[in-house]
Amino acid sequence: MHKKLFIPGPTEVAPEVLQKLATPMIGHRSKDASKLQRDISDKLRKVFYTQNPILLSTSSGSGLMEGSIRSLTAKRAIVFTVGAFGNRWFKMAEANGVPADKHDTEWGKATTPEIVDKYLSTGKYDVFTITHNETSTGIMNPVEEIAEVRKKYPDVLWLVDAVSSMAGAKVEVDRLGIDVCITSTQKALALPPGMAICSVSPRSLEHGKQVKHRGWYLDILEIYKYIETKDHQYHATPSLPHMFALDFQLDRILAEGLENRYARHREMALYTRAWAKEHFALYPEERHASVTLTTITNTRSINVGGLNGELAKVGMQISNGYGDLKEKTFRIAHMGELTLADVKQVTGEIERILPTLK
Ligand SMILES: *Cc1c(COP(=O)(O)O)cnc(C)c1O
Repeated sequence: MHKKLFIPGPTEVAPEVLQKLATPMIGHRSKDASKLQRDISDKLRKVFYTQNPILLSTSSGSGLMEGSIRSLTAKRAIVFTVGAFGNRWFKMAEANGVPADKHDTEWGKATTPEIVDKYLSTGKYDVFTITHNETSTGIMNPVEEIAEVRKKYPDVLWLVDAVSSMAGAKVEVDRLGIDVCITSTQKALALPPGMAICSVSPRSLEHGKQVKHRGWYLDILEIYKYIETKDHQYHATPSLPHMFALDFQLDRILAEGLENRYARHREMALYTRAWAKEHFALYPEERHASVTLTTITNTRSINVGGLNGELAKVGMQISNGYGDLKEKTFRIAHMGELTLADVKQVTGEIERILPTLK
């Protein structure tokens, strides 16, 4: 039996989208491949609210996180972390020999504009990174406020991990001034895993020229070069099945309407948060709680594995805590194709199962 996924990726994929993965192949150096990439980019620019070029990478979101921090940091990067995925970005910098510092915020809290201001005012950095939606703690960082202080430092590149929020929450890339905004296919975009997407500002492409060892496969400049000079093709063979499905799924997303889509996510989040507070407790500070997933403190010390075993019998799956929060929290994701009715169903089943858990 298929289990409906209430986990923060991979998420449910509509059957008609899955079918698009089975589209017969075309040559990746063909005019059809160029057209496919152009169409996808035009649609993604609407979802990202940007005029910037869109790059696809046949990797997961982590690929473009690693590729961007490596190929665009010429001086030193500052990584603002509020959880596991922020920490991952710092590890990537270290693993690639990219000079970087890390600012840790207590888990469950958000990155503040004040702390960003403090670091950027030192003049030590040419790149800073923000996790828009930290999937371990369930925090959604205040990028609007961060964008305000960032205006004082227009020369510092701003990289944003919007892997688990893009298409579930509004991220207006150009208005906020985000230089590189990254997402993956398997979260709120509701496609299978295997492709990463980013928008990239012209000045990032200019700035990156100063970086000597940018790698190759995940080098933002190399990927862009083929978009620019080879009519929207790729330096290596891209996952064409994902591109067929993405093109189709973007039509579905735009047909739903972006505002409707955000409202649907907000509705699910508000319901899940209220439910969490009634039966357990909310892990993140509420004013910065995510709209695509809810991280719940396991105040009753329930056995989350046992709960999932019972949920499996009725065809559903939620997520345990991430990393250090494994036993202390559990997570209900409400993104992509899911609806309020789905969320009511899974929380209802959890209420039914709770008294029976050992
Ligand atoms: C899932 C996730 C990632 C990693 O993305 P992959 O596509 O699995 O590489 C990075 N950041 C956040 C916030 C995520 O939720």
